[in-house]
Amino acid sequence: MSHTISHALTIAGSDSGGGAGIQADLKTFSALGAYGMSVITALTAQNTQGVHAVHPVPPEFIAAQCDAVFSDIRVDAVKMGMLANAEIIHAVAESLRKYQPRYVVLDTVMIAKGGHALLDPAAVDALRRELLPLASIITPNLPEAAALLECSEAQSEEQMREQGRALLAAGAKAVLMKGGHLAGEQCPDWLITPELELNFPALRIATRHTHGTGCTLSAALTALRPQRVDWESTVRDAKAWLLQAITHAEKLQVGQGIGPVHH
Ligand code: PLP
Repeated sequence: MSHTISHALTIAGSDSGGGAGIQADLKTFSALGAYGMSVITALTAQNTQGVHAVHPVPPEFIAAQCDAVFSDIRVDAVKMGMLANAEIIHAVAESLRKYQPRYVVLDTVMIAKGGHALLDPAAVDALRRELLPLASIITPNLPEAAALLECSEAQSEEQMREQGRALLAAGAKAVLMKGGHLAGEQCPDWLITPELELNFPALRIATRHTHGTGCTLSAALTALRPQRVDWESTVRDAKAWLLQAITHAEKLQVGQGIGPVHH
């Protein structure tokens, strides 16, 4: 694989402001040396101040986009971001079962930082039942892990590990539990697989420009996994790259709200 350019597909929503969603994913793919493709699940009218409106794409048209891509182009890794509702989840699950891409990253997107729902709360069950078993890795933040497990949000690293193990028991093959919502200066992530539990320590960076960080991390995992030997090295390199993208976010002067990271 290392002698060819990896091909990465994002199945996600569009962010007209360019900081999250499809736009963040394609910028990340390019920055990390992958050829990027997109299946758009929903349009959002969005800027750095928030999501103003959402227009979901009909599920048949999502299937048509998947068929167009997979029938012609090699796909090494897929990421899923905003999926909006249960019908879209079902259409995406059917396409993944049909084409069986090698690596599948599921970013369990639910609510934007500004509070707008990116997934119908009634669709969490469909996400758990249909997509968890199809994913090679899932990347929940703490509120998303709690919603998937129907429990309260983890407050400590020990609880993060417990919830990561519970998500494995619920059908995930690997879980990257993201600790950004923990209180305090430390915001460690934990990679939990049946074989290992690995801590990725991190200090909170003093910036308010964090729009699209979750999208960007899962896109980085998708671009890098075909170029790395395992999830451990993939997560390490994706996080190192995201760290510099957040550190340089202040260089951008994009919008008046929560600005994006520097891809
Ligand atoms: N808009 C879209 C289309 C997204 O997919 C996402 C995150 O997955 C967001 C917005 C969320 O961005 P934020 O980082 O501001 O919560």
